[in-house]
Amino acid sequence: MIIDLRSDTVTKPTKGMLDAMMSAEVGDDVYKEDPSVNALEKRLADMFGKDQALFFPTGSMANQTALKLHTNPGEQVICDKYSHIYNYEGGGASFNSGISCKLIDGNRGMFTASQVEASINPPDFYHSPLTTLVEVENTTNKGGGACWDFEELKRIRKVCDTHNLGYHLDGARLWNALATTKEKAKDYGQLFDTISVCFSKGLGCPIGSVLIGDKDLMQGAIRVRKILGGGMRQVGYLAAAGLYALDHHLDRLSEDHKKAKEIGAVLEDLSIIAKVEPIETNIVIFELEPHVDESEFLKQLSDKDIHIIGMGSNKLRMVTHLDYTDAMHKHLLDILNEF
Ligand SMILES: *Cc1c(COP(=O)(O)O)cnc(C)c1O
Repeated sequence: MIIDLRSDTVTKPTKGMLDAMMSAEVGDDVYKEDPSVNALEKRLADMFGKDQALFFPTGSMANQTALKLHTNPGEQVICDKYSHIYNYEGGGASFNSGISCKLIDGNRGMFTASQVEASINPPDFYHSPLTTLVEVENTTNKGGGACWDFEELKRIRKVCDTHNLGYHLDGARLWNALATTKEKAKDYGQLFDTISVCFSKGLGCPIGSVLIGDKDLMQGAIRVRKILGGGMRQVGYLAAAGLYALDHHLDRLSEDHKKAKEIGAVLEDLSIIAKVEPIETNIVIFELEPHVDESEFLKQLSDKDIHIIGMGSNKLRMVTHLDYTDAMHKHLLDILNEF
């Protein structure tokens, strides 16, 4: 039994998902003639109460497209120092859009409206980059799967309105946030100008992300996607996996969250562990005591076929997911209890 908790991206399609993919109706999506892609896009636009949605191969490409839609070269996006767009998209903000990031020193990947206010460059001070966009991530990845306080997100919306800034949500794991907070997709659709969501994380698809927004902004999205090389042909085989996941894998996310909390409870009691970050969804981040060697600890686990990742500074991460079964969970807890 190999237990892979490095990420929720390691899942493989279930039999049911594969069947749905193999029997998908397809067409050329560059001509917008793929019925499965069109159905997925329509479903997400309706779910979030927005005009349009567009299918992408990756979340990075969906986020990068959003950055491009909201900004011109030389401008600046406000985001957290932990944000995926800053840390894990290969420097795409500068490469693709020619913009810089103003980083907020937030808490677990989250920040406040007053921190946003303080990060805006005065528009008439032409020495500084013009601030045009605020980006938030929910749940926060590097922040340990934390969920934002919706009231704070609303206060940030007000700041965006006052200063005429775009508001983009990186919702790669928004599904996990919705499962925990019981908020509705439409609440987010009302608040944000653009939202990206992923199907290849908790929902267990092999690939796929969607960018959602209103017509005025989204009309440029298909062109940017084409420029980035994301115009795909009979991609309905992949969109069908997304449709299947919405029907079958959304309601089970709370199981992943429950398992993550149970792992956290065991880790809390281990003497070699200094700290476990609060666990709200499917990500467990914990820190080893300073005297414990991180690579040695990782090796002890991998010798037992348990794979997790180190994040530097003695911090480690485990992520629960669809392919992490009850049997694996029981086995992992037994092994952890031996430390
Ligand atoms: C995974 C992830 C993405 C998208 O990543 P891709 O690998 O490009 O699909 C975007 N934002 C966050 C927070 C993520 O965790």
